[in-house]
Amino acid sequence: MQKAFKVTLIPNHKQEILINKSIGCAKFVYNHFLALKQELYQTEKKTLTYNACSQRLTLLKKEIEWLQEVDKFTLQNSLRNLETAYKNFFADLKKAKGKKGVGFPKFKKKHGCKQSYKTNLTNGNIQVIKNRLKLPKCGWVRFHKSQDVIGTIVNVTVTRTLSGKYIASILCETEIEKHPQVSQNIGIDLGIKSYLVTIDGEVVDNPKYYRIQKRKLRSYHKKLSRSVKGSNNRAKAKIKLARTYQRITNLRDDFLHKLSTRLIKENSIICIENLQVANMVKNHKLASSITDASWSKFVAMLEYKALWHDRIVQKVGTFYPSSQTCNHCGFINPLVKDLKLREWSCPSCDNYNLRDVNASLNILSEGLKILTAAVGVPEALNACGELVRPGAIQAELVEAGITRL
Ligand SMILES: [Zn+2]
Repeated sequence: MQKAFKVTLIPNHKQEILINKSIGCAKFVYNHFLALKQELYQTEKKTLTYNACSQRLTLLKKEIEWLQEVDKFTLQNSLRNLETAYKNFFADLKKAKGKKGVGFPKFKKKHGCKQSYKTNLTNGNIQVIKNRLKLPKCGWVRFHKSQDVIGTIVNVTVTRTLSGKYIASILCETEIEKHPQVSQNIGIDLGIKSYLVTIDGEVVDNPKYYRIQKRKLRSYHKKLSRSVKGSNNRAKAKIKLARTYQRITNLRDDFLHKLSTRLIKENSIICIENLQVANMVKNHKLASSITDASWSKFVAMLEYKALWHDRIVQKVGTFYPSSQTCNHCGFINPLVKDLKLREWSCPSCDNYNLRDVNASLNILSEGLKILTAAVGVPEALNACGELVRPGAIQAELVEAGITRL
């Protein structure tokens, strides 16, 4: 299993110069070959393969001396990235059939975006000892230690953030110690008022980091727009703004990580709505709250952690009326479409339903139904369509290597 460990580097002055040089060279190579490929295609309708680019890179390094100052993998990885960008573009072109997709590879800009370079491991050129990371050419760079880097290093990507920090993402091949098996399954209803509500009635509040920092962000945006282009104040305002955004992202990621880790540890099967966030964000009133909630990131975390620990994340269709259905008798109550209706008595069976808990219970039973159908274990359902042996199904799914449907 591969796992990335992110650490904040504390480079000395010399190392900082080298990191910036590496980023610059990586960008130069990328842009140089993108231009070359475009030109060749326009003039001779020819394409340039990765190997052809690689041969030309060797010649280019003889011509341009400063390209030799950085690690050779950095430059090769740049070519690989370009190759991937082209592949993604063509793959998406086929799939999207004229719809707006990934887009043609773009030239990398000097400013205004994250800048990075990637280097690979050979012969101990990359190592981690305590709070130091050995990087090719740079030597031992200190970093803030927040977690142990475990496993065999595969590669390292060094990124300079907009706020001027240097982050190393160390990708390792590692054995993950699996959580012990549990029998509890859970349904989760995602929301805006509360981040999520579970079948047990647990309510996790939405932290809304973005909203809390909104005033700060607004004032920094103002300062930036009032400053003179190219001035020192403008550069300072830019960094302050980027730092605030970075802080929000960090706080939110931390929250999402803790929550997803706990849910994966405590549950065997996790059923969740398949939200089409992209569509929902078009609704502007809800937009900032939804992006703040970053549901898709959360679901992605649940999914990859489920793979690590042999858990199952089952998504339930967006159009399944999880809120309107009474979990007790299956009656569909159209009145519940009204978002303000937080609790209701079922007109059919008189069951008292709390809106979000009822939805999560429905999501769980619908998810388990989909799972049973997928594995084809009809005897696992009783006459009422309820799941009799969730544990057995989970075991069969894991055995069949199905962790995602
Ligand atoms: Zn009912």
